[in-house]
Amino acid sequence: MSWDRLEIGLSHERAVADKIRSLGYAVEQFGQGLLKQNVREALKETESLIRWLPDLAVLVVESKLVVLVDAKGCIKGNQNTPNHSLEMRALMAANITSLPVWYVCSEFKALSAASVIEDGPDRACCQGCWKLFLTGDPTKLPRKCPEHDRLNRRGSGTPWLLISKQRCRPLEKVFPPLIDARAS
Ligand SMILES: [Zn+2]
Repeated sequence: MSWDRLEIGLSHERAVADKIRSLGYAVEQFGQGLLKQNVREALKETESLIRWLPDLAVLVVESKLVVLVDAKGCIKGNQNTPNHSLEMRALMAANITSLPVWYVCSEFKALSAASVIEDGPDRACCQGCWKLFLTGDPTKLPRKCPEHDRLNRRGSGTPWLLISKQRCRPLEKVFPPLIDARAS
């Protein structure tokens, strides 16, 4: 990931965290953001699912429920794309947390990881990778999709999914405002 993309990712993560806080929830950093840089660097050499854990933990104080949130960029160039793109490993990482995980894009639309697993993606890099994903065994998923080179695709080739944003819900439906708007 280039420095620019990292910066955009971080500013989006901050925007999502601020938005959820403004609705009255406690938001803490989660995932790789908790690790020191030297550990993050070392993890890059591994296929550990820790690398793909969501960015944020949201505490619903009253019910003591913890929900994880992954801030997803959804702008390519200057254009909003009609789909969420998601790495299969991120979805696997979400699944092993056994907590509700929501992907939130820069338009503050939310998609649940469970719904992607249950209903399937709108498109996958290839059917082969999706079948391997469904085994639930991260070691079976190839580092690079076998179709990547054959189809001359750009990028790292890590197996991916596309999910239509029409399947997303407004963030306020997932995190109903706990703060009286008039009071803020
Ligand atoms: Zn594939």
